[in-house]
Amino acid sequence: MARIQILSDELTSKIAAGEVVERPASIVKELLENSLDAGATELTIELEKGGCKSIRVMDNGEGISGDDVARAFERFATSKIYRFEDIYEVQSFGFRGEALPSIAAVSRVEIVTRHREVSFGTKAIIRGGAEIAISEIGCPVGTSILVSDIFENVPVRKKFLKTENTEQTACLDVITRITLAHPEVHVRVGINGRAHLDVPATRNSVERLSLVMGEEFTGNFIPVRGVSESMELSGFVSRQDFTRANSKYLYCFVNRRFIRDPLINHAIRTAYRNIIEPKRHPSAVLFLQIPLHDVDVNVHPAKLEVRFRDSQHIYGLVLESIASALAGAGELVEKEPTVHTARVQEAIKRYVLTAPKEKGTFGDRFSRKHLSPSLPMTNMPAAVEKLLFSEFEYLGRIAGVYLVFVSGRGILLLDQHAAHERILFERFKDRESRSRGNSQHLLLSETLSLTPKDYAMVSEHLDQFNQAGLEVEPFGGSTVAIKAMPVELSHLDPKAFLRDLIEEAQVEDRLMIQKENPQYRIFAVMACKGAIKANDPLMKQEVTALCRDLDAIPNFATCPHGRPTYHFFSVRELEKMFRRT
Ligand code: ADP
Ligand code: MG
Repeated sequence: MARIQILSDELTSKIAAGEVVERPASIVKELLENSLDAGATELTIELEKGGCKSIRVMDNGEGISGDDVARAFERFATSKIYRFEDIYEVQSFGFRGEALPSIAAVSRVEIVTRHREVSFGTKAIIRGGAEIAISEIGCPVGTSILVSDIFENVPVRKKFLKTENTEQTACLDVITRITLAHPEVHVRVGINGRAHLDVPATRNSVERLSLVMGEEFTGNFIPVRGVSESMELSGFVSRQDFTRANSKYLYCFVNRRFIRDPLINHAIRTAYRNIIEPKRHPSAVLFLQIPLHDVDVNVHPAKLEVRFRDSQHIYGLVLESIASALAGAGELVEKEPTVHTARVQEAIKRYVLTAPKEKGTFGDRFSRKHLSPSLPMTNMPAAVEKLLFSEFEYLGRIAGVYLVFVSGRGILLLDQHAAHERILFERFKDRESRSRGNSQHLLLSETLSLTPKDYAMVSEHLDQFNQAGLEVEPFGGSTVAIKAMPVELSHLDPKAFLRDLIEEAQVEDRLMIQKENPQYRIFAVMACKGAIKANDPLMKQEVTALCRDLDAIPNFATCPHGRPTYHFFSVRELEKMFRRT
């Protein structure tokens, strides 16, 4: 009895689609790349519900002729290569002929397109990979593709989607990258029927960079240029005094294709080593032009990774160019790596030794998740009755952060940061929106110009900001005005605070609390920023206030990230430790 069967086309395309179409943002990426490949200079993207409901991409590219429309949706149908070797010659983003069929296999696609040499257009509807209607239609030259019912027929995939907000952020990320690398293209974005972004074509990539990176770009970035053999590096990196709280502002493009390359990122970080604080991160937008035959783009289904023929050389070029830009040395680095050769060699060695062998941190995340909840349990009070912190006598502080207390019941150690963080978090979470006394108004409101993506994030969380006492208002374009700070945070610099808040709130899965209620994430980040830090001096009265506040709140045992705020050793436990029982 034979049990092995050849899978049906429908099934194989659904399986293959998984590689290319992981989430709405992957659809946006593939459609935009097709438009660019078609020579478009005008792109319009419309997202509904973060791209989860529908995605429309319109372009003024060369269009598809009626005869080709149906074929474009067949697997491995492409107009871009004819022979395998062409892969190493083509400039186009696509060549695998997989995107359209993969998208159509997991959604409903409506395409309206007209080839520039044809006088009429074609409209086709494809669902679950099968064509259901095709007709002639009058329309301008170019292509408009509407994708809806995404993952409707693959419920498992649908379940894997994150919140609409997160998916939208991912879509805007993709759009930002493409906009950065194609200054000559006019890009418009609409979200839920409203205009969100309009970036006119420019010749000048500096102009485009500031449009995308926000006004902070000017003044805080310096140009980088380097040439080595047939490779050319250009772009901008942040000044050493302008750092970010996380490392996601590293944009790297190889032949205008956005890629993620751990080696290049490592080279960037190495250039900043010792000149910025260890926990801060640089930002960079780098464009690497290298001969097509020196890079293999056919190693990743979504082409997010590439393989370089000579990665060591590239590492050197990136490190050297940035290092000399930062050192203020000459505009153009043109040489075989020499000056920093030793440093480069050493860095590469270290990279090879320390780079994670496996990608992804699935296992490590799992184990951390597994551990956290049990942490606060260790040495938890054996007695069921609630600990009253204010009943303890304060003795002093160890290591700048642990407050030591005693009472007849035992010894108490309190982490001043974690405890204060929890107190602030509970306050932000529970207070009435905009009630008086929550905010400290600024004498002069401060304006901050944001990237479109960050602006979208802020707009979405205005209510929560206000509730916590952070009054932020739209100020035209993607600029916001900060009018008031939460009273508890009035000592912080408003702009730096908002910037950090935006960045950290976007870091996913960072906070346990997120799983309880995603909107609390904002409060958790605010609390973390505002809480007293290790080594912050603390007066006796402040210690007393801290204890009183802790007594008044629920969940006092952990900070919002799930770390313990205190450890208590009861007399019984002490007796056990000393084997007196
Ligand atoms: P690939 O891009 O790898 O060739 P796709 O499945 O993405 O494969 O697209 C298949 C073909 O459909 C392309 O080769 C191209 O000829 C055509 N096509 C897709 N999108 C567009 C568009 N926006 N404008 C013109 N032609 C397009
Ligand atoms: Mg394509």
